[in-house]
Amino acid sequence: MYIKRFIIFVTLLFVSFSAPCNRPIIIDKLVKIGKRTVSNRNIEAIIVHSTYNISGGDKYDVDKILRQFTRYKVSAHYLIARNGIIYRLVKEKNISFHAGKSCLPDGNKNVNSHSIGIEVVTSKDSLDAPTVKQMDALVALVKDIKSRYKIKYVLRHSDIAPGRKTDPWNMNWEEFLKQIDK
Ligand SMILES: [Zn+2]
Repeated sequence: MYIKRFIIFVTLLFVSFSAPCNRPIIIDKLVKIGKRTVSNRNIEAIIVHSTYNISGGDKYDVDKILRQFTRYKVSAHYLIARNGIIYRLVKEKNISFHAGKSCLPDGNKNVNSHSIGIEVVTSKDSLDAPTVKQMDALVALVKDIKSRYKIKYVLRHSDIAPGRKTDPWNMNWEEFLKQIDK
């Protein structure tokens, strides 16, 4: 009897510890500028971006990138570092200023209000593709977001602001779309 209970206990313990493994690990690094706190918004799009530090020093330095965001009064909900760590900059329930002047395929120009923005740290240099760890993290994050909202669009910044924006850079977009539908 005790053995049976013990086995059930161990099984439950194993399940409870293994369950979160499917969800990406996210570290909070919430920003104060480049966002707006709102009480209610309808999330229907995920917009993928690239960013890097252009102010000198390590182009992949996360803190330098965040200082750059503060200067330009922009942000994203998430930023994925080169090592695959996902930082939460803005809570999903709030609006992040990541899209700028842009338009969703259905004509909605209020993109920030209806989307979640994800920055992948990559430079424009054609040799600087996102790392495998970054792409794994991005796929896990997008799948997780899609499981929680009715997402109509997963788009590149360049899809919603053609002629103005070219990011995400050096990303195999077709392969990424295949991965998130698996
Ligand atoms: Zn962008």
